[in-house]
Amino acid sequence: MSKSIPEMYGSLVFNDTVMRHKLPKDIYKALRKTIDNNTHLELDVANEVATAMKEWAVDLGATHFTHWFQPMTGFTAEKHDSFISPIEGGKVIMEFSGKELVKGEPDASSFPSGGLRATFEARGYTAWDPTSPAFIKDGTLCIPTAFCSYAGEALDKKTPLLRSMEALNKEAVKVLHILGDTDVTSVCTTVGPEQEYFLIDKEDFKKRKDLVFTGRTLLGAMPPKGQEMEDHYFGILKPRVAAYMHDLDEELWKLGIPAKTKHNEVAPCQHELAPIFNTTNVAVDNNQLTMEIMKKVADKHGYVCLLHEKPFEGINGSGKHNNWSVSTDTGINLLDPGKNPATNTRFLLFLAAVIKAVDEYADLMRVSVASAGNDHRLGANEAPPAIISIFLGDELTNVLDCIIKGSSFDHEKEMMSIGATVLPHFVKDTTDRNRTSPFAFTGNKFEFRSLGSSASVATPNIVLNTAVAEALRQFAEKLEGTDPAKMDEAVLGLVRETILAHKRVIFNGNGYADEWVKEAEARGLYNLKSTPEALPAFKAEKNMELFIKHGVFSETEIVSRTEILFENYVKTLHIEALTLQDMVHKDFLPAVMKYADSVCDSISAKKAISASLPTGEAEKLLEKLASYYEEISKQAEKLESDTAEAEKDTDLEAQAMKYHDVVMADMEALRAVADEAELLLPDELLPYPTYEKMLFYV
Ligand code: ADP
Ligand code: MG
Repeated sequence: MSKSIPEMYGSLVFNDTVMRHKLPKDIYKALRKTIDNNTHLELDVANEVATAMKEWAVDLGATHFTHWFQPMTGFTAEKHDSFISPIEGGKVIMEFSGKELVKGEPDASSFPSGGLRATFEARGYTAWDPTSPAFIKDGTLCIPTAFCSYAGEALDKKTPLLRSMEALNKEAVKVLHILGDTDVTSVCTTVGPEQEYFLIDKEDFKKRKDLVFTGRTLLGAMPPKGQEMEDHYFGILKPRVAAYMHDLDEELWKLGIPAKTKHNEVAPCQHELAPIFNTTNVAVDNNQLTMEIMKKVADKHGYVCLLHEKPFEGINGSGKHNNWSVSTDTGINLLDPGKNPATNTRFLLFLAAVIKAVDEYADLMRVSVASAGNDHRLGANEAPPAIISIFLGDELTNVLDCIIKGSSFDHEKEMMSIGATVLPHFVKDTTDRNRTSPFAFTGNKFEFRSLGSSASVATPNIVLNTAVAEALRQFAEKLEGTDPAKMDEAVLGLVRETILAHKRVIFNGNGYADEWVKEAEARGLYNLKSTPEALPAFKAEKNMELFIKHGVFSETEIVSRTEILFENYVKTLHIEALTLQDMVHKDFLPAVMKYADSVCDSISAKKAISASLPTGEAEKLLEKLASYYEEISKQAEKLESDTAEAEKDTDLEAQAMKYHDVVMADMEALRAVADEAELLLPDELLPYPTYEKMLFYV
């Protein structure tokens, strides 16, 4: 009989239950202290933990271990070592030491380091992150680790994330103690990332170089039907998709990833998976793993899982919603307004901190979601606009208005009536939904919706945590020493002052409207439309100061990261440009020529039989094909020379701009003619599967 879900859940994770069971009591306690209070772990404790981990892993069939880390490639990295250790008589035993558990030394020279490589040793270190549990994947014990250079510069996403969580913890606890919540000893941020993805047939995928090399289609005309009927969103799952999702859930559950919600998305073949939220660090690791497992399970089902932000032109792309909140070790969600937000001063203060943080660091928030792929979504009226603003909903907006005016807020929750008496009545949510807002308050958390589907959720959370930490730091400074009897009054005053200063970032209207773009400009909000426009903000003086002050990034780390992001942008566009040229020259133009030839043959054949056979329409078609051939060839030539020109640029930022302004425009122009021509070609001459075939026959 197969295992029940509770039995299966977390069966491949070295979680708290396993630790308690496998470790001697004092060792367990020491490890717990390290996990809960960030204390240093002694080597003798590490040795015991390593032995227990190995025994547990070997029992479950593991033969290898790896330090699992997240370099700046955006993917995860692993290097497997087996547990075997030779003993006398040509035999081996399975061994794993505390030293191997806590530290690894992968060669750092082949990972992106943005200039750090030149000045630092090639050697890199991985260091065990005991706050994220180890797990078994494909017979390998995976140990989540941070990755840094010999000099201690972070080369990954986990290190700054942990630093940002610590910064927020420190400042939030300080504020809470001032407010009188002295029983709180730590505060942590929580994240629930909703992940969107596409599933297409593996056979179709393999036939398209664009999907293989770039993850998105660079050519392809729209089918007669797109997503206009809105019949896919929350639609019934097809059996094959349902089977995939079922398998995916099981694989994730075994890894202790609490996959909770699954449904069809707006676009055909698009789906979404949301887990139950977790501590940010674990949620980030889990999301990386989720993306990996999604692809792996897809392969077993004859699918390919596309995580690109925009696999298909004209069809909604994929994003990731970063649900984010802050809670205390005493179990309080600091963004939960409670029954009466107007008198919940602690909530109001944290709310004000988030508003201040997002307004002051909106440019960094934009940077944190910037990528070549995500540029196709942001501002394309399907995802939030590139302008970062906050949606609060009517109730909270009213509460804040009253605080500003100094009037009292009459709080009466409206009951929701659905109109049929058999249906239950429930209290209306404090906020309605607003799908066009990049940063929306959704009842007891904020939802940052600008994230791309393929990217790690680490960076947006690093920015959010650090920016909020800074706002809280300033609040603590102002409230320090206030007479406890006057604390509420002081907090309300501070909230009022903060909202007055930052209310420009609050926008409850339609983010897709053109008027908003104008209004946002008048309000002085950033509108960083593309990645090359956004990235320089990373190293703007105020942003450098922020990160350095809170110990999240050093100046070198910021400079090197900015460079990596620029490089990544340029490389992505370069690969796309080359792939498109290749497809046009080797697949598409030959198909156009072939069809033109056959039309030509048919015209000559008709003429040979009788001069009176009509050939006018065929000749028109031939003319069209011939002129498409010329036009496409010319556009391809232009793309080729502009790409070569962009490649020559030695100034990385100027080069990125050139790729954006010139090369991408060329690609779009080329695609536009090719897609028109595609509509003329008979299916059997098309060199690769069409949108129709990929999206409607899965
Ligand atoms: P929707 O599609 O309506 O946005 P979902 O239920 O799909 O909502 O996703 C909501 C996500 O928010 C889930 O991952 C959920 O676990 C997460 N979430 C709920 N409460 C919190 C919280 N306090 N902190 C972080 N994430 C949360
Ligand atoms: Mg959502």
